[in-house]
Parts: sequence; C-alpha cells; structure tokens
Amino acid sequence: MKTASKDLTAVSLVKEALEKAHHYQPDYHVFNWINDAAIQRAEEIDRRIAAGEDVGRLAGVPYAVKDNFLTNEGDTTASARILEGFESPVTATAVKKLEAEGAIMIGRTNLDAFAHGSSTENSYFGPTKNSRDLERVAGGSSGGSAVAVALGIVPFTTGTDTGGSIRQPASFNGVFGFKPTYGAISRYGVVAMTSSLDCVGFFAQDAADIDLLMRICAGQDPYDLTSLPDYYGKEQVFDDPVKKIGAVKDFDSEAIAPEIRAVLKQAIEELRENGHEVIELEMPALKYALAAYYIITPAEIASNLSRHDGIRYGFRSENSTGLTELYRNTRGEGFMPENKRRIMVGNFVLSSGFYDAYYLKAAKARTVLIREFEKAFEKCDFLLMPVSPNPAFKLGEKVNDPVAMYLEDVLSVPLNLAGLPGISVPVGETDAGLPVGLQLAGPRRSDRELLRFAGEMHKNSAAGSTERHVDIMGGKD
Ligand code: GLN
Repeated sequence: MKTASKDLTAVSLVKEALEKAHHYQPDYHVFNWINDAAIQRAEEIDRRIAAGEDVGRLAGVPYAVKDNFLTNEGDTTASARILEGFESPVTATAVKKLEAEGAIMIGRTNLDAFAHGSSTENSYFGPTKNSRDLERVAGGSSGGSAVAVALGIVPFTTGTDTGGSIRQPASFNGVFGFKPTYGAISRYGVVAMTSSLDCVGFFAQDAADIDLLMRICAGQDPYDLTSLPDYYGKEQVFDDPVKKIGAVKDFDSEAIAPEIRAVLKQAIEELRENGHEVIELEMPALKYALAAYYIITPAEIASNLSRHDGIRYGFRSENSTGLTELYRNTRGEGFMPENKRRIMVGNFVLSSGFYDAYYLKAAKARTVLIREFEKAFEKCDFLLMPVSPNPAFKLGEKVNDPVAMYLEDVLSVPLNLAGLPGISVPVGETDAGLPVGLQLAGPRRSDRELLRFAGEMHKNSAAGSTERHVDIMGGKD
C-alpha cells in the first residue's frame, strides 16, 4: 500500500480516499460516518515528514474502522439505535497501534447491528450494497469494511469475526479477509458480541498488507487478558514451501452451490499443478458446529448486551414511568429484531431447566470439534474449504428467514469455535461475475505462514492472474 513521503503527501492520499468515500456513499452506503477532519491529521503527518521525522510504517495511509471499534472520533454505534449518540471515552488498542504508525481513520463502516448477521441488512441505518451488484448484499456483518476495500476507497479496513464476519463479506466482494488466531489482537475497545469467539482482523487487497498490519497489531495487552503473548512478530522459519492441503469433504454437497464447488475444484487443480499435495479429509464433527455456535453465541450475547439499559450508553427511551419501564422501552426500541431474538434464545439456553440440554451440550460439541481439528492438522498443513455455501445473495432474500440466514454461516463458524486462524482468499468468480473466495485455515498461531500461503494461492489463481493482466495494462497500482 502507498505510504506518504516527501514526494507523496498524506493530504493527497487522504483527500483521494475522502472523495471516493463521498462519491460511493449514496449508492453503496459503506459508512455510518465519514471523518472529513482526517485532512487535519494528514496535514500534521506531512509537517512531521517535512521535518524529517519517521512517522511510522503506515505513514499517511487512510483506513476505515468497522463501527464497533471504540474511538474518540465520532460516535460508536455498532449500527444499533441503542448506541446512537454514544461518544466513547476510550480508543480500541488495535486502533491506537495503527494510528501510532501514522495511519489515518477516514470513517466508520456499516455492519449488522452488534455484528449479528451475515448480510449487513440488520443495520439500523440500512444495508450496505455489494461492490459488484447493487441488488445484492455486501455480506456481513462487516459488509461496509469489505466494500470499502473492494471499491478501492482505502487500502485496508478493520473488521471483527465471531462466526465469519470478516471472511464471508471478503468472499462476497473479492478481497482478502483475515481472522487471526483467537487472542492474537487485543479485543479491548471493541464492542463485545461473543467474547469467547470474537477476533479483530483485516480486509485488504493483498496478503502482504495484512502481514504488515498483523506485525503492528498483534501482541499481548494488559487490558485484554485473553490476548496472546506476541508470537507473530517473531522470526518464523518458513520450512518446506510445498504444502499438504486437506480438502474437507464432509459437507453435504447439495447444500453448496454448484458455482462454489466449481471454484473449489479449480483451486484444488491449481494447487496440485503448483506442486502442492491435496488430500481429502473427513471431519464428521463439522456438522455440529453451526448448532453449537447458535447456542453458545446467543448465550454470550444475552450476557454482553445486558449492559444496555438506557442509563449508561447512548439512546434512552423518553416518556417512561419507573425504572422497569425505562429498561423495557429502551431495549424494545433500541435493539433490532435479530438482537432481540438472540437475547431471548441466549437467556433460554442458559436458564436452569435447559442449561444441561443446550448450553452444556454445545460446549461439549465445541470440544469434540477442537479435537477433530487437532487431528486434521496432524495429517495436513492447512485446510481448504468454501467460505459460504452461496455467493452474494439478493437483498431481502433471506432477511425475514433467520434460519436460512444462519445456514449461510455453516462453513465459517467452525474456525471460531476452535480459535483457529482463517483467511478468505479471492480466487474466482461465478459466470455472473460475482466474486467467490475460498477459505484456508491453519493450526493456532500459524497465522504468518497461512498469510504467506494465501498470497501465493491468490497469485496463481484465475483472480490473481486477471489482476496481473490489469497490472501490465497499467490500470492498477
Ligand atoms: N453471521 C454470523 C452471526 O450472525 C457471524 C457474525 C460475526 O462474525 N460477527 O452470528
């Protein structure tokens, strides 16, 4: 990505990004807020560069945050009415680290309210549109962040991935979307969804850019006790460049759209042509992942969202008599239907009569799944599978059918339950020109090697070679 220098000003980089942001906003609704004051920060960076200062590895690089990262600039809404007008007193650790390297935040991107969803249609502010087709969904929940990169507004954006929210919209829009090992990047200052699954990650056009962002953001944080001691920055010895890839074959092939299966088949052929070994792997426990996820996730959501009471943050319903009514009205008016559904389900599965039957069983299924992944990685270096069963679907197609929407997550949630790193690699597209990404997963802490391999896989794919062609034509930098 381009960084500012004496020859290329931060002001010009930020101006261009802001112009594009405003240009695309009416059609695509990428942002909840555009930060026009970013120009002032760019001017300051330029002054420091002119004075000979080293302003960092992301000098003057414009970027955007998903609107569930707390920052001092702009309201943090998580696309939910209940947080409307909430000015955060703190800044997320990841954002602090990016800004310390000279990056400049130009806006906050749209998401499904509280990151609950797979299409960005659950946003209180309305959906984000797919970068290739305005009648289709952007994916979700980090739809705005994926589209911001796909439209070339900024070279990278932040996202969160609890059950696929980075990988799926990345796939739907033809960009890289990376979810690191659980705990790699601090969750401090990020609106909590499912604390045992939530991961901070990135969207970019290039795997090498994500590698740089990881070197900057990964590491232990005293404010997040689940953050891991830095393993990412350490020199890793990249052993044998030839890899053994496990292609997971246990998915009901009927449930996976033919165009996705075609992209997968081609990718396997390309990997073999490039000297890698591809083996078929059985992972029977994968079929329990979605059910376990949709018990564990609502349980943690019900708990995390209980803090929104109309007293402490953002929106408060007026005209209530008494405290109970204030809670009821604020939560009733402030949450989206999908938020409420999860609060209801979460409290149900945690209730004393049903805890053993649901929550405990889901926790056990999660352990079985973790063991199955461990066994799989004894047989291969990385796993390859689709990100989602379908390419980007039409706006409105699934939004009134929660189960159909949940089924879209069947391939992305297993990695979160096991805490594994995963990346959506843009490798192909459907005949109708919709992007299709494939998902590579590795053992815990294999993030760096995974990113290196993802970059290689992309370069050798149909999508990668088209881009190379554009390169030669001079249309792209
Ligand atoms: N689509 C999934 C859900 O609705 C994942 C969301 C996420 O990763 N934040 O829960």
